[in-house]
Amino acid sequence: MQTEPEAVHDRRALLGDAARLLVRAATPERRHLGIAIAWLMLAAGLEALGPLVGKFLIDHYLVPRQARLAEIGGLLAGALVAGMLASWLRYAQLIRLAGLAMRSVQRVREEVYGHVLQLPMAFFDRAITGQLVSRVTNDTEAVKTLYVQVLFVMLDSLIVLAGAGLAMLWLDWRLMLVVAMLAPAMALIVTLYQRLSGPAVARSRQLRSELNAQVAESIAGMPVLQASNAGERFEARFAQLNEAHYAARQQELRANAWLLRPMLDFLNTLLLALVIFVFDLRSAGAPLGAVEIGVLYAFMGYIARVTEPLTQITMQFSQLQQALVGAARVQTLLREAETPPHAAAGEVHAGGIRIDHLDFAYQPGHPVLQGIDIELAPGSFHGIVGHTGSGKTTLLSLLLRFYPAPPGRIRIDGTPLEAIGEDHFRDRVGLVPQEPFLLAATARENIAMGRPLDDAQVVAAARAAHAHGFISALEQGYDTQLGEGGARLSVGQKQLLAIARALAGRPRILFLDEATSHIDSDTEQVVQQALAALRGRVTVVAIAHRLSTVRDADRILVLNHGRIAELGRHEDLMAITGGIYRRLYELQQLEDE
Ligand code: ADP
Repeated sequence: MQTEPEAVHDRRALLGDAARLLVRAATPERRHLGIAIAWLMLAAGLEALGPLVGKFLIDHYLVPRQARLAEIGGLLAGALVAGMLASWLRYAQLIRLAGLAMRSVQRVREEVYGHVLQLPMAFFDRAITGQLVSRVTNDTEAVKTLYVQVLFVMLDSLIVLAGAGLAMLWLDWRLMLVVAMLAPAMALIVTLYQRLSGPAVARSRQLRSELNAQVAESIAGMPVLQASNAGERFEARFAQLNEAHYAARQQELRANAWLLRPMLDFLNTLLLALVIFVFDLRSAGAPLGAVEIGVLYAFMGYIARVTEPLTQITMQFSQLQQALVGAARVQTLLREAETPPHAAAGEVHAGGIRIDHLDFAYQPGHPVLQGIDIELAPGSFHGIVGHTGSGKTTLLSLLLRFYPAPPGRIRIDGTPLEAIGEDHFRDRVGLVPQEPFLLAATARENIAMGRPLDDAQVVAAARAAHAHGFISALEQGYDTQLGEGGARLSVGQKQLLAIARALAGRPRILFLDEATSHIDSDTEQVVQQALAALRGRVTVVAIAHRLSTVRDADRILVLNHGRIAELGRHEDLMAITGGIYRRLYELQQLEDE
């Protein structure tokens, strides 16, 4: 994620990524793809015959003035049938292609999303949400563009070019050489177009994603934004980005307007004039051969046919550019290594945790946890406290397997953490995060979270979390829609709901990550009651900023610079004169007063 493919200018890498993505998307569709290609070839081949039939009619019947109606009629009927067949083939091929392209997008999108869900938590430390969203939803569309606009237009153009080239070669190879002079002129136009339009396309894409990012950021930070009256500043920055985007689009449009149609049409006319001129030169010496009028007719037909695909290819260029960048981003994301699956089959039974000499560092040389040694009995209640940055969240992340702990250092019921089956682990270990994460769904759905729980289980979990009261008081009870992010509930209620959710899984171990930081004292007491009720049944480990939450804990673990500095019951820790816990506690009491 750190290297934005927008900055990637290595065309070979871009093309390689696009090819890999196409192969990935095409493999399951290879049968449809094969048929679509076969039909395309047939249609293009049939179409290439048109000018030849015309030439034959002119040279054999019109010029010699031989009105053999039956033969002419037969020929025309044949041409008509071939034309109809070609049209039908094109239609069938387009439908098939569009269908398979959309199915491929669908599949790649699912694959990318599934991949994101399996990425290790460390990935999300550096990921930017807006970018990830656009990887999954927008950039995967690149697959369709690559298929429809690029692969097929190119293939179509190549077949038409080859067919027309062969026909012209067969008709008159010297005239064909004149037409072949089109190639360098065309290459020049494409290069020029690429120079002018390429950077503008890249810039406008970049600016658009910055516009998106700013909108997303403003929405996420709306309360702060409005409270600090920063609206005007945001508007000004947005206008600036928007203006730059406009300028880039303008440049892109100018390149299109100048180079695409006008230049190519001009080239077409030039070529026609050249062919007629050469034709004239050659027939000046000899009297006009009867056969040659037909050849000229056929050439004019082919020239029109040859310039069209070239125009198409050039026009697709900016699409190609965007699709390549999109494909590269998708491939980059797909290359991120997934969390290795926990194929292990170990289980959590009683929920006892043992940590032996645990050291951990996110980056080598910067230890975050050092020599952590502790045993938590099943059903016990432990609090973790300490200054910001002391390693509390890190310890929890390791216990939750969000980051891989050194093997064998953490055991649950004697089984090494890494030897416990993933599904079983997530089933038996619950988490109540600091920011309760609620879906825009009903209260019931928010507790069940897709697990097959019946009503009684949902209600029992809500009761255990002391959430039943306020949920029942909502106008539709458990079926009340909570709105995005649970907008209809207070922070405390959201937290109780999050606890109900964690309990509904019937966990043996429950982790709370500063679950009481943002709630009022009354709700905190409710949470405390809920936790107290779990005693003896569920092992509870709670990080608490607010010390009253863990006052009743069996033991409180005080972390300091990644080490356990103090350990004991509230009263024990308060007895240590000059102790960290005692100072923290006194400080908080002062604040409360
Ligand atoms: P606490 O939860 O006690 O505030 P943390 O466990 O969040 O402490 O942080 C402990 C140390 O680890 C801090 O110095 C912090 O900067 C560092 N840290 C935390 N998360 C990461 C991460 N994902 N990558 C690198 N360093 C991190």
